[in-house]
Amino acid sequence: MIYQRVALIGLGLIASSMAHAMRAGGLAGEIVGYAKSAETRAVAGSLFCDRVTETAAEAVEGADLVVLAVPVGVMGEIAAEIAPRLKPGATVTDVGSVKRAVVDAVAPLVPAGVQFVPGHPLAGTEYSGPRSGFASLFQNRWWLLTPLPETDPAAIARLRSLLEAMGANVDEMDVEHHDLVLAVVSHVPHAIAYTMVGVADHMRRVSQSEVIKYSASGFRDFTRIAASDPVMWRDVFLTNKDAVLDILGRFAEELFVLQRAIRMGDGDHLHAYFTRTRAIRRGIIEAGQDTAAPDFGRAAPPAAEG
Ligand code: NAP
Repeated sequence: MIYQRVALIGLGLIASSMAHAMRAGGLAGEIVGYAKSAETRAVAGSLFCDRVTETAAEAVEGADLVVLAVPVGVMGEIAAEIAPRLKPGATVTDVGSVKRAVVDAVAPLVPAGVQFVPGHPLAGTEYSGPRSGFASLFQNRWWLLTPLPETDPAAIARLRSLLEAMGANVDEMDVEHHDLVLAVVSHVPHAIAYTMVGVADHMRRVSQSEVIKYSASGFRDFTRIAASDPVMWRDVFLTNKDAVLDILGRFAEELFVLQRAIRMGDGDHLHAYFTRTRAIRRGIIEAGQDTAAPDFGRAAPPAAEG
């Protein structure tokens, strides 16, 4: 057992997966949960929490580890509510997909004697809610921690041991660097998927149901990403604005170059470009972050979002 009592605030995909993984590994003595709706709390109480509470403040009472697993936009509000009830010596972490905004909202509210270790699991699916979690979500996935200079190394090491016991590979990173890297590998790809599905939706009006009927793997993969939770992704774009706009600008430039090559019939350019991008895909498979199986092995729940 790594923590005697763990409080999960927010009981959706990430929190429920953590709870299943902690239960499977015997990593927490007691798991206490709180989420906004009574319905979510009831599901969590029957599936993966030992106890649920009526408020976030009650949930964190006596907890050794508090995990903020709510949308990025409400982290500050929750932190303000729980701050006076945190146990001295406790660790607070979060799983938000953006780190600068969470650190700015939460860190000033964390009382002296409590450690804040911001984090982000690079694992997810397009499903959300308390029924969507599963114990193996974090297996062989990265979990990035962005500790602050004043964070106690012992608190980081203990949290790291929990995350590793849940199957994750843990790395530490600077807050700003995290947000830029995530804009490239996750946030902008989601923006592009949302846009592509939006384009197809316009097309559908002229081609009736053909877009859906004939949707092949390329478009189908876009729709999977574009099915991700609207609240979560609204908050990601509102809070990682600068990095997302920077990368979107670069994307637009590349797109214009590609558009020009297609217009000019520049086959050499297209071939060289696609050869380079294929090598990147190979690198991801070699790094164990996806599978080369047909259909990306996606009969099983997909991973690596957020
Ligand atoms: P989710 O499945 O949509 O669950 C969100 C949970 O937060 C729900 O239990 C919801 O309660 C609760 N919640 C929302 N507003 C609340 C409030 N004001 N007070 C208390 N509880 C509130 O979300 P998720 O996918 O687990 O995401 C949680 C966090 O993980 C987000 O910050 C997200 O950026 C991050 N993340 C997500 C992924 C991913 O791919 N999904 C990956 C990595 C990180 P109700 O059910 O009662 O509404």
